Amino acid sequence: MSHLNRRPRAAFAALLVLALAAPAAVFANANIVIVNLDAGTGQGLDDPTPAAPIGGNPGTTLGQQRLNAFQVAANIWGSFVNSSVPILVDATFTPLTCNATSAVLGAAGTQTVHANFPGAPKFNTWFAQAEANSITGSDLDPTTSDLIAFFNSDIDNNNNCLNNTNWYLGFDSNPPGNDIDFLTVILHEMGHGLGFASFVNESTGQLLAGRHDIWNHYLFDATTGLLWLNMNNFQRRNSAINTGNLTWSGPNVTAEAPTFSNGVNAATGFLQMYAPNPLEPGSSVSHYDTAVTPNVLMEPFITGSTIDLDITIELLTDIGWSTGGYRLSNPVPGFDQQVNTFTTRGATPGQTNYFIYGFTAGSVNVPGCPGVTVGIQDINIFSNGPADAAGEFAVPAFIPNISGATVLFQSVELSTCQVSNLVTYTWP
Ligand SMILES: [Zn+2]
Repeated sequence: MSHLNRRPRAAFAALLVLALAAPAAVFANANIVIVNLDAGTGQGLDDPTPAAPIGGNPGTTLGQQRLNAFQVAANIWGSFVNSSVPILVDATFTPLTCNATSAVLGAAGTQTVHANFPGAPKFNTWFAQAEANSITGSDLDPTTSDLIAFFNSDIDNNNNCLNNTNWYLGFDSNPPGNDIDFLTVILHEMGHGLGFASFVNESTGQLLAGRHDIWNHYLFDATTGLLWLNMNNFQRRNSAINTGNLTWSGPNVTAEAPTFSNGVNAATGFLQMYAPNPLEPGSSVSHYDTAVTPNVLMEPFITGSTIDLDITIELLTDIGWSTGGYRLSNPVPGFDQQVNTFTTRGATPGQTNYFIYGFTAGSVNVPGCPGVTVGIQDINIFSNGPADAAGEFAVPAFIPNISGATVLFQSVELSTCQVSNLVTYTWP
C-alpha cells in the first residue's frame, strides 16, 4: 500500500534511469474535424478581435483562440474513441438563453441517427451518426456532418449575461474569477454529440420515429424494475422525473459506481441519471445526476474546469463505442481519509506504469520521449508497477486529511511514452 502525501518528495528525474526500449503502444484514435460555420462572418470562431495568448493558447484573435480550444478538445476526444471514419463537427457561436444569474453555455447533438446498419450491435435501435459510422466503418451520411455544436456568444458579447462573465480560452483549466472554461464546455457538448444523449421525448415518453435508441437498453428505473426498453410511453414519462431512481445499468459505468460517494442508487448499485421533477427538457435524462460525487463532466451544470472525460468514456463504452486510450479512470483521486484505488487503463500488459502527482501545473518533458510532456511541474511518484494482462494498473493508496488542497494526478507508461489524462482535484 502506498501513501499519498501532500508534501513533494521524489523528483521526476528518477524516471530517467528507468527508461526502456519502447514496444508498440496501442492508442485509441479518431480524427475529429471542426467545421467552422462562423467562417467569413467576423463573429464567434471567426472573431478578429485581437487577444493576448493565454493559458497555453497561442492564438492572437478571439476567433483563433476559440478554434484552438476546439481543436484541443477534438484531440482529447480523438485519443479516447476509435473511428476509421473522420468525425465532422459543425460549430458556431450564437446567442443562447442568458440572464444575470443563469445561462445556457452550449448545446450539441448528433445531426442524424442510424439503425440496422451493417454491424449494428442491437436490432432496430438508433445510434448517433458518429458511432454508427465508427461501427460500420463507412460514412452513413456523407453529406451531413456528424455533430453540431452551438456556444453562447452572449457570454462574451452581452454584459448582462452572467454579470459580465467571459469565456476563458486557456488550456490550463484555470479561468480567473467567474469566467467559464470553454474547453470544459466543448468537451461536454462533444460528449452529447458523440452519443451521450437519449433520443426519447422526455415530455411524452415517445420513441424517436417509433424506434428505441441505444440508451433505452441501459436506462433502468429502480422503482419499477424496468429498462426503458420494456416500458410504455407513460412509464418512460414517469421514469424521467423519478429523481434518484432513474439509473444507468450498463456494465462499464456500474463497475466504477462504488468509487462514488453519492449519486449511486442504493437499491441497484447503479449510477443515477438526472431526473428532476418537474422535468427539464434538454437536460433531464441525458446527463448524470447532480448528486454524483465527485462531480463529473456530464452533469447538467458546469461544476469546474477540467480536461478529464472521466466516466463519460464508460458510458460510451456501454453503448457500443470502441474506446481506448491510456488514462486514469474516474473518480480520481477519490476521497481523503480513506484508502482509494487508483487505476490506469489502456496500459500495455507487463509494462511499468508510474503514478505521479504534484501541486503545480506546468509542462515537463518526459525523459526519453521527445515531444511528450506531463502537465505537472513539481512531480512526485507515489507508486509504480506493471500493468496486468488487461492493461490495467491499480494501486490502493490512503489519502490523508487534505481538505482544501488541490492536487494534480497523471500516470506515465515510460517505455511506450504514453501519458494519461491530467486530473486536477480540489478536496472539499
Ligand atoms: Zn449537457
